[in-house]
Amino acid sequence: MNTVDYLRISLIDRCNFRCSYCMPEDAEFDYIQSQEMLTNDELISLLREVFMPLGFRKFRLTGGEPLLRKGVVDLVKEISALSDSEDLAITTNAYLLGGMARSLYDAGLRRINISLDSLDRDIFRQITGRNHWEKVWQGILAAHEVGFDPLKLNVVVIPGVNDREVLDLAALSIDRAWHVRFIEFMPIGNPELFEHKGWVDSATLREQIKARYGLLESTCKGNGPADVFQIPGAKGTLGFISQMSECFCDRCNRVRLSADGWLRPCLLNESGQIDLKTALRNRQGYAEIRLQVKELLHLKSEINFKERDRGTGNINTYQRTMSQIGG
Ligand code: SAM
Ligand code: SF4
Repeated sequence: MNTVDYLRISLIDRCNFRCSYCMPEDAEFDYIQSQEMLTNDELISLLREVFMPLGFRKFRLTGGEPLLRKGVVDLVKEISALSDSEDLAITTNAYLLGGMARSLYDAGLRRINISLDSLDRDIFRQITGRNHWEKVWQGILAAHEVGFDPLKLNVVVIPGVNDREVLDLAALSIDRAWHVRFIEFMPIGNPELFEHKGWVDSATLREQIKARYGLLESTCKGNGPADVFQIPGAKGTLGFISQMSECFCDRCNRVRLSADGWLRPCLLNESGQIDLKTALRNRQGYAEIRLQVKELLHLKSEINFKERDRGTGNINTYQRTMSQIGG
């Protein structure tokens, strides 16, 4: 069985962007009420008393937009200070990053993933629903200057929207040690757009990039689901996350905790989730909660494999979007 030691933590389900593939402008969401969200103290207790004793060492803060969470810098500081926290990262849209990059770094954060689907301001606005390209770019440069390493840029390619920019986006990995990661569009969040536009598989993207720049398998492999390549001579790398065209369930090392405390064993499957917030608030002992989580980890590989086809084949089975699950 694969070791599961990576927890993705959604700090908030709200977002200041409205990416068409994730939280389309006209979608209605039942946002989590503030009293239903795990507090910083509850989250730290779960990490220290439940996840770390079970061997979890890697943590990613995500959302929604995690930088909208009040007290996020303090939370980063607290998690970094936990003795078993070996690897803390964040995924952000970078809108607030320009003003926060330094304090996040000083609080102990080193790894950052930033969503950047376009270098064209109009297409960026079309995708994100916001005219904020400049501010996002400034956020990326601020993170670079402060010294975040690795600095990864996440790109979701949508046919007929930003697919003409694949070469330009890939070229961002040449002069700086930036790691551009192409994520296949999934039918979560906006199944209508998915059905209408479809998706591009990683192999097709690699062919395009190879024809223009050449492409080598990279020697620096990550420990996640990305297949890592490199343009010859580039300082950074290109990652391809191919959850639609490939099944990498057998390499999956992660589970997800939502902002309201539901622990989810598989992104593409809604069964098996457990409600850790209620357990905490009902004063169930940590030993008992640990046991529940341990049992879930035991079942995880079965859940991954058994439900994947149903999950990707029937888009209506998803109740929560990436922003709600913690993408
Ligand atoms: N707001 C932050 C951001 O955009 O980076 C963090 C949360 S966002 C849900 C995390 C990642 O999920 C982003 O890189 C986004 O592109 C990706 N994502 C969201 N919806 C997706 C979808 N339907 N298919 C593939 N990736 C998706
Ligand atoms: Fe917000 Fe990130 Fe979803 Fe875009 S992808 S709407 S920035 S949560």
